[in-house]
Amino acid sequence: MDRSKLYRRFRTLLIANRGEIACRVIRTARAMGLRTVAVYSEADRDATHVALADEAVLIGPARARDSYLNVERLIEAARKTGAEAVHPGYGFLSENAEFARACFDAGLVFVGPTAGMMTAMGSKSGSKALMEKAGVPLVPGYHGEAQDDATLAKAADKIGFPILVKASAGGGGRGMRIVRSAAELAPAIVSAKREAKAAFGDDRMLIERYVDNPRHIEVQIIGDSHGNLLSLFERECTLQRRHQKVIEEAPSPTLSPAQREIVCAAARKAAGAVNYVGAGTIEFVSDGKDVFFIEMNTRLQVEHPVTELITGIDLVEWQLRVAFGEALPLKQDEIKLNGHAVEARVYAENPTKNFMPSVGRISTWRLPAETGGLRIDAGYREGDSVSPYYDAMLAKMIAWAPTRDVAIDRLNRALEDSDVRGIVTNIPFLSALITHPKVRANAIDTGFIERELAALTQTASAPGELELCAAVAAIVNDEERATQGEASSPWQTFGWMPVGRRQRSFAFRVGHGPEQKITLNYGSGPSTLVIGERELAFAVVPKDAGFDLTLDGVKSSVAAVIDGHELYLRTRNGRFDLHWVDPFGGESEEHVGEDKIVAPLPGTVVAVLAEEGAKLEKGAPILTLEVMKMEQTLRAPFAGVLKTVKCKVGDIVQEGVELAVVEPSEE
Ligand code: ADP
Ligand code: ADP
Ligand code: MG
Repeated sequence: MDRSKLYRRFRTLLIANRGEIACRVIRTARAMGLRTVAVYSEADRDATHVALADEAVLIGPARARDSYLNVERLIEAARKTGAEAVHPGYGFLSENAEFARACFDAGLVFVGPTAGMMTAMGSKSGSKALMEKAGVPLVPGYHGEAQDDATLAKAADKIGFPILVKASAGGGGRGMRIVRSAAELAPAIVSAKREAKAAFGDDRMLIERYVDNPRHIEVQIIGDSHGNLLSLFERECTLQRRHQKVIEEAPSPTLSPAQREIVCAAARKAAGAVNYVGAGTIEFVSDGKDVFFIEMNTRLQVEHPVTELITGIDLVEWQLRVAFGEALPLKQDEIKLNGHAVEARVYAENPTKNFMPSVGRISTWRLPAETGGLRIDAGYREGDSVSPYYDAMLAKMIAWAPTRDVAIDRLNRALEDSDVRGIVTNIPFLSALITHPKVRANAIDTGFIERELAALTQTASAPGELELCAAVAAIVNDEERATQGEASSPWQTFGWMPVGRRQRSFAFRVGHGPEQKITLNYGSGPSTLVIGERELAFAVVPKDAGFDLTLDGVKSSVAAVIDGHELYLRTRNGRFDLHWVDPFGGESEEHVGEDKIVAPLPGTVVAVLAEEGAKLEKGAPILTLEVMKMEQTLRAPFAGVLKTVKCKVGDIVQEGVELAVVEPSEE
């Protein structure tokens, strides 16, 4: 086919995605002088990507399948705005051959490979057959057409347990089961097929030997329409949870230079087998010694920035140039590896509650400046809402340094210096993860997070002297700010009052913990704080997002957010959430839904596990909700009798709706 039908210069680009990736693509497109068009759903009217683009088109209701996955609406949006090209981002329709074809049929340039290349590489079985022919090493396994039980059982037996049963059409770690013995095989296939059918509409399975102590290694490749194909080194993404990447780095700390050359050559061979055009990733699993091909992703990856930081190449710029029909600007031997980069995915989720997604308004969004090797790709700003309809990734923090150790330290510092409030994030978890001694020593495999979960999700320590003093300083600081300019403000000359000595008492607690008391003495002479028997001299100098607190002659920086009586503090000892106990009483015990069986987020009831009238122990399961692709079981808050169940399987329930009533048993 005439190449110019597929790839040619354009001036207006539509980005068929949202959040962080849409923002990322817009930034480069704009720098290249292109006009950008965003698309958005009803839930995303005020989203950051909409604000960033030159134009934006509403494409439908919140549900992805009515908006971001709606091919017709997307093509229509391009037509309406005069867009000549479409960048699909990742996720959504990025690996959908029909979408690529629909763009082509509508006369649009699709920034990516052709529909044919996607189809060839889209199925794991099909791509493995291709790779086998091209001589790329595969994990021993079965990827044939026949899907009957006997064939699969025979294949599993021949490969030897443990094995991995995988959906051929799979993605995002779904439709995959580890099987450790012949007896487990049949039920695992049934459930993997069910999941695959629901998620991908295709339940064909393949079987692979489960590689011991698996590590995930992948190679970034990019091809142009002139037959040039380059590899841009590898990334290691071994730190995963449920087969999904959490931390990614480049280069891999596991490979020797000789091994690096072998994997990159294998990746070029793999992509060359389909004369690949565009950016793509060849994924391998490794036992630390050998690497085996597992799949190809025919799109940009979430973790592409680590490759950009070690090569100095802007991959989105190169994608767009390839889409213009240009030849790649460098030759293989001109691609140089410089230093080390590590990325952490920041999610709106609660690691201490089984990574339950967190939705709501982002009331505080303070991330460090992008200097000193730090890069932040964010899709959200202060005031934005995180909705339950989409992926909960908020941003990626990426640090570059000459060495891996320093890159880790820089990334950790950036995580520690971030304050996001209003929703729960995995930031403290990420920090604990990248500073874990075994991560630093690269003594990891893909099961690491699961094994170390308890240590990685430890909750903060109790507030000490510094935090109590900081809490008082934060309150006083806040009151000062609020009353600034008012002649009557008692805090105008904080720390000094013209008449006499005064006292003000405060009490704080964490959760349902004990109250901790502290008294502020002010008035004539220097102010002091008294905790128990200790009296401390102190000074406060307000600054952006907090203050410097000098205590016992040591000055340290404190970040603070006050929301009514809830105080958030970040000191050198970590993050603290304190409740300021109201000095005027009125502290009724709050029942913030904890005693009620309510939907924590909008979701679907997938199982009812107890019957009305049943006697329940505390913690007994009552029903299971599916919320944002994850199952969440709601349990009895105390021992009692299940009085009513207000929903049934299949119900779609809104956030905060009461689903069942438990009556406490009388003691
Ligand atoms: P997906 O399309 O869901 O990304 P992959 O085939 O890439 O599916 O597998 C996801 C993850 O599962 C990999 O990153 C790797 O950690 C693990 N994995 C895949 N295949 C194997 C295998 N044969 N042995 C051990 N781990 C594997
Ligand atoms: P990789 O294959 O690079 O590890 P993933 O498979 O996690 O990355 O990336 C694809 C996933 O990205 C999709 O499954 C989808 O859930 C998610 N996704 C799609 N769009 C966005 C977006 N705008 N921001 C964050 N995540 C997204
Ligand atoms: Mg994969």
